[in-house]
Amino acid sequence: KQDINIALIGNPNVGKTSVFNQLTGLNQQVGNYPGITVEKKIGFCKLPNNIKANILDLPGTYSLNASSIDENVVIELLLNKNDKLYPDVALVVTDVENLKRNLLLFTQIKDLEIPTILVINMADRMKFKGISLDIPYLEEQLKTKIALISSRKGFGIQELKEMIITYRTLSTESCLNASVIDPEYFDSLRKAFPNQLLYKLWLVITQDVNFLNLERNEIRSSFTKSHSDLKRLQQKETIKRYQFINDVLKEGLKIDTSIAKDYRSKLDRVLTHKVWGYVIFFLI
Ligand code: GDP
Ligand code: MG
Repeated sequence: KQDINIALIGNPNVGKTSVFNQLTGLNQQVGNYPGITVEKKIGFCKLPNNIKANILDLPGTYSLNASSIDENVVIELLLNKNDKLYPDVALVVTDVENLKRNLLLFTQIKDLEIPTILVINMADRMKFKGISLDIPYLEEQLKTKIALISSRKGFGIQELKEMIITYRTLSTESCLNASVIDPEYFDSLRKAFPNQLLYKLWLVITQDVNFLNLERNEIRSSFTKSHSDLKRLQQKETIKRYQFINDVLKEGLKIDTSIAKDYRSKLDRVLTHKVWGYVIFFLI
C-alpha cells in the first residue's frame, strides 16, 4: 500500500504519459495522436521525504461534460471518494502553447475541490514561441500552485515532486463559482442538498455515469430539466469558463510575436538559400 494517490488529468496530447514516465521512471509508449491511453495506467513513484505514491495516467479528456468512454472513466473516479485510487492530489497537465483550451478542464476539476497542481508542460517551447507567463499572478487568479516543466527535457520535475508532497496544504478552493451558470437553479439545488458539492450535483444531473446510484435518482427526479435546457446550460457553462480564462490569460500570458517571427524569418532564409542552391545546381 502506497502513501498517497496522484492522478494525471488533462486534454489529449499535453504530455501526461511523458510526465508519468518522468515520475515513475517507466517507459510507457508516448504518442502524438489522441486516445493512446485508453484506460487507467498505474505506476509507482518515490517522492522526497520517503513518501511513496501511486500514480495514475488517465485517458485524455477535454472536459467533464462527458461524451466518451474515456471521459466517463475520469469523471467516475473523481466523483467517487471511496475509490481506492481517488486522488490525494490531481495534477492537471497542460501544454503552454494551448493553455486557453486546456484550462477549461482545469477550472472544472477545481470545482470538485480536489487538491490540485496546475502543471504547465512543454516549457522548452516558450522561448521559441515568445511566450512569457506571470506565474504568481496565474497562481493567485487560478487559486493553485503551478509547476512549469518540460517532461521532454526533464526540467521542473524535481520541483514538481517537492510540490506534490505539500499536498495537504494545497488549495481546494474553486476558481469560478459554478452557480454563475444559472444562479436560480443552482440556488435551489444548493438548498435541497446542502451537504453536497454544487458542481458534483451538476455532474450527477448531466452525466450518464455509474456512481452513487440512489442519490443520483433522487437528485435527478427533483431537478429534471428538458434535454435542450440541459444542453443550453452546458453551453453556458463553457462560455462562462472561457470568459474567466480569457480574462486571466490577458494579464498572465504574453506572446511576443516578434520573437516567433524572428525565428521564422531565419528559418525562411535558410530554406530560401537551399532552394537557390538547388536551382543553381540544376543550372550548372
Ligand atoms: P498525452 O496524450 O497527454 O499522454 O501526451 P504524450 O505524453 O503522449 O505526449 C504527446 C506529445 O507531446 C509527444 O509527441 C511528446 O513527445 C510531446 N511532448 C511531451 N512532453 C513534451 C515537452 O515537455 N516538450 C515538448 N516539446 N514536447 C513534449
Ligand atoms: Mg497518454
